[in-house]
Amino acid sequence: MPQLLEDNPTADNNRLPLWFNQPIPNMDKIREMKGLFRSSGLHTVCESAHCPNIGKCWGEGVATFMILGEICTRACRFCAVKAGKAMDVDLEEPKNVALAVQKLKLRYVVITSVARDDLDDEGADHFAQTISEIRRIMPQTKIEVLIPDFSNKMDSLKKLVAAKPEVVSHNIETVRRLSPKIRPQAQYDRSLEVLRNFKKLDVSIFTKSSFMVGLGETDEEIDVVMQDLLKAECDILTIGQYLAPTKLKRHLKVSRFATPKEFDNYKQRGLAMGFKHVMSGPLVRSSFIAEEGYKECFGKGVAKNV
Ligand code: SF4
Repeated sequence: MPQLLEDNPTADNNRLPLWFNQPIPNMDKIREMKGLFRSSGLHTVCESAHCPNIGKCWGEGVATFMILGEICTRACRFCAVKAGKAMDVDLEEPKNVALAVQKLKLRYVVITSVARDDLDDEGADHFAQTISEIRRIMPQTKIEVLIPDFSNKMDSLKKLVAAKPEVVSHNIETVRRLSPKIRPQAQYDRSLEVLRNFKKLDVSIFTKSSFMVGLGETDEEIDVVMQDLLKAECDILTIGQYLAPTKLKRHLKVSRFATPKEFDNYKQRGLAMGFKHVMSGPLVRSSFIAEEGYKECFGKGVAKNV
């Protein structure tokens, strides 16, 4: 973990500004969580993506499951998840995820995956099965899926919609100009189209997206990506600070650390533009306290069960 800076002069990739300082987590709970994931053979994006919130989330018994293995078929330049030849699909995984959700007594769960360009449906059916297993043994649990783009294949999107998750999240990750450099196997417009298509298929599903700052974007470009997401009828937005996962060439350096005040400003701008919920802060990640976004949208009466 990088050291902490007293203030935020420049983007020093070895040291973090003080606002990244966090309280000491509940280590007993963290050990318990680790034991659960190891014994069940499950993966979490919390670990695989080196999430800085792992102490807080795991200390509170919350995790985001990463299905379909821990090797991604894409190699985005911001991401810590290993890239390479995909693993065999574990047919027991949907059931095991559901059992872990039950064990952790999660009333809200986020399920994500690596990209699986090697599979015909890119993993949509496995997502649907996981949702269905959770519904079977934890019918009260609300489910958010954070998906790759499934190459915008309509059959895959339909499979997921049929499983009726409460929230479908797909991350745009960055502004249009930087997208080809940062996520070369994805496409900015395709990501927008995926979000738009979910709304077309089922208007009652909340959609969500996320992007990072600190990759070289300008404030004007941030406004444009927010407008683009709104045009794609995205309901929920999260904005967080990019942190380089390693010093390897593959991973981009941090261009700047946005201050908490700047993050608050992005939030206010997003809300004024029309998002139903915006979470913005240095440590915000797509799945961070994800239940809040769902609850706020649900409270506004814009989607399912209304
Ligand atoms: S923010 Fe999400 S990925 Fe990070 S530790 Fe929390 S649940 Fe896991």
